[in-house]
Amino acid sequence: MFDAILIDKDDSGQTVSVTKLDDDRLPEGDVTVRVACSTLNYKDALAITGKSPVVRSFPMVPGIDFSGVVEASSSADWKAGDRVVLNGWGVGERHWGGLAGKARVKGEWLVPLVPAFSMEEAMAIGTAGYTAMLCVMALERNGVTRSAGPVLVTGAAGGVGSVAVALLAKLGHEVHAVTGRAEEADYLTALGASEILPRADFTEPGRPLGKERWAGAVDVVGGQVLANVCAQMRYRGTVAACGLAGGMSLPATVAPFILRGVTLAGVDSVMCPREDRIEAWRRLGEDLDPKLLAGIVQRLSLAEAIPAADRLIAGKVRGRIVVPID
Ligand code: NDP
Repeated sequence: MFDAILIDKDDSGQTVSVTKLDDDRLPEGDVTVRVACSTLNYKDALAITGKSPVVRSFPMVPGIDFSGVVEASSSADWKAGDRVVLNGWGVGERHWGGLAGKARVKGEWLVPLVPAFSMEEAMAIGTAGYTAMLCVMALERNGVTRSAGPVLVTGAAGGVGSVAVALLAKLGHEVHAVTGRAEEADYLTALGASEILPRADFTEPGRPLGKERWAGAVDVVGGQVLANVCAQMRYRGTVAACGLAGGMSLPATVAPFILRGVTLAGVDSVMCPREDRIEAWRRLGEDLDPKLLAGIVQRLSLAEAIPAADRLIAGKVRGRIVVPID
């Protein structure tokens, strides 16, 4: 038996609770993992609160991420005792996820846990941090070098934003951070941001083209904020867009793209090919100082993670939440 968060739904609505489950109830898969740690991402919070139709079948164990040790495997790639990480692939949406003592998944979804990180550090990073790394890699592919100019991060005090600030600063970029929480200025400065910009500067409709400010940007917000960021990119700058914390729309014009050669680079972590995931985790091991992770995480139990989902959606959580599993 193991503990799990279980989301169920019937005619009267969605219920979420911590439940004891038997191994027999685990879904199909060729690798069974004893989960050491999971985490709460924005998408997990959407699943737990039911605010968005993230969960595709019920009952569902949420948790798009986990780290753990292989307990049993019929996959040629894995053997008992291997340290593994899983991010995405529809786990926690279509297939039972990581907010549980055990998970059974396809071996091809797993990546080896790089030696640089403990199980808990891997989850302090989680999908949020691995997506931040994919965004940094997208900027690099598009020629955003240290000397090209400052790089902007929106939603900076959240999960993706915090790791993006830390990574970009460690790589030597001048990092400007946009936050709606002025009280997090010291936190962002400690992660490496040299300028803190209020979110309010980005939320009103702006001109199609503004002053050229940034060579690169990581945007987790979407909506008007993303439109205003695009309008203020330097000539041939690149925006890596990965989120919708501020909305799904994009009320922009084509002016930045056709007059300044700006690139809008989409970033998806869920179906990202395995080679890119392995590279992103290798780079995280190289470019992210594990000591910084201690300052961005808070630990919650499975039971505590349920009410935390509301706080996360409300944008009140700083950095990352990890959920160690006993
Ligand atoms: P968090 O909730 O931790 O962070 C989001 C941050 O965005 C908040 O902390 C806040 O930062 C800011 N924010 C929240 N609401 C608004 C708003 N209405 N307007 C403007 N800014 C807002 O979430 P994550 O960092 O985990 O995820 C961020 C986004 O990235 C989400 O939309 C998520 O779905 C997406 N995502 C996408 C992935 C992909 O594969 N494409 C993978 C992972 C995440 P502050 O207070 O500093 O302003």
